[in-house]
Amino acid sequence: MNFQGLNLSAPILRAVTEHGYTTPTPIQQQTIPHLLAKRDIIGCAQTGTGKTAAFAIPILELLSVKKTHNRHIRSLIVTPTRELAIQIAENFKAYGKYLDIRHTAIYGGVPQGRQVSALKNGLDVLITTPGRFLDLLNQGFIDVSRVEIVVLDEADSMLDMGFIKDVKKILATLPARIQTLLFSATMPTEIRTFAKSILQNPVEVSVTPVSSTAKRVTQSVVFVEQHAKTDLLVKVLSDVTIKRSLVFTRTKHGADKLVKQLAKTGIDAAAIHGNKSQNARQKALLDFRNSDIRVLVATDIAARGIDIDELPHVVNYEIPNVPETYVHRIGRTGRAGAAGTAISFCDPTERADLKSIQKLIGFDVPVVSSYR
Ligand code: AMP
Repeated sequence: MNFQGLNLSAPILRAVTEHGYTTPTPIQQQTIPHLLAKRDIIGCAQTGTGKTAAFAIPILELLSVKKTHNRHIRSLIVTPTRELAIQIAENFKAYGKYLDIRHTAIYGGVPQGRQVSALKNGLDVLITTPGRFLDLLNQGFIDVSRVEIVVLDEADSMLDMGFIKDVKKILATLPARIQTLLFSATMPTEIRTFAKSILQNPVEVSVTPVSSTAKRVTQSVVFVEQHAKTDLLVKVLSDVTIKRSLVFTRTKHGADKLVKQLAKTGIDAAAIHGNKSQNARQKALLDFRNSDIRVLVATDIAARGIDIDELPHVVNYEIPNVPETYVHRIGRTGRAGAAGTAISFCDPTERADLKSIQKLIGFDVPVVSSYR
């Protein structure tokens, strides 16, 4: 199947083609026709599957086909992190290049002035994180009375981050009958129950079950004491064929500490996590993308939404205690079918977490007993 077969209008097809896409990804093939038919959707898909375009393209199509006189917010996209909000906005910009559909992203951590101006100038699509949305709504800058389509992106992540209450508050402000889409990388019971309470007769779409993604990535685990992990990381990174490495720590503090320790050994690294300013996060990402730094140290939440095409190497400096998180992390390397490498450092206190991960992915991660 190609994009031509999806009943999209010429300006969108042109933009999509110029963007270099020829074939819709499986989530796009499954989602776009139902979205165009105005159905509610519950989608199980991780980032990396093309899920953003799966909702951005048909939303642009629906909004451009049915024009309104005055500009007002007709679609609202709620996403957990600033990075994701920015990335979603980039998608709308790319596919909406030849349309008169205005969008903006609003998120916390930056002054509100520009966001307020954009809202005042009029918008068709608002992409937002929950906190800043409620803040600006309460200040009277946002009118959602004519929203037609709402997307809840990365619902599991919003649940993890404690945003579900805010999301419910947001939904309560919207008109009663609107088209609702919920996307989530995993489908824990809480998300299913929540989805049932808000979606009307939804179509269920799902791609690459979390465990099968893991099979594309070459994985290994090294058993190591906690105190020896930094030395081990320096050894791993001494391999000059590793052009870029994304290193995961569990905590923000741990990420900062590791960057400092690496700097002492001459390895330039940057950390991204929720305590960093928006500018610092964007700069770190840009430096990493441009290969000005080889190593990016990230916490899980900050790493959601990092979209770097050539990322062959991931290090789990600490083993995550939620097994699905492991798959998200290593999935950063195997994007768009590319093969990647993931190495995990497991100290004695993390053995149980490793076991749960192996149960989820359905195989034992090969153990490397010595690392030279
Ligand atoms: P996402 O899952 O939305 O984060 O998208 C993951 C990556 O896939 C992004 O870099 C997109 O630009 C890319 N992508 C999305 N749709 C397609 C497509 N149909 N063909 C090729 N690449 C795509």
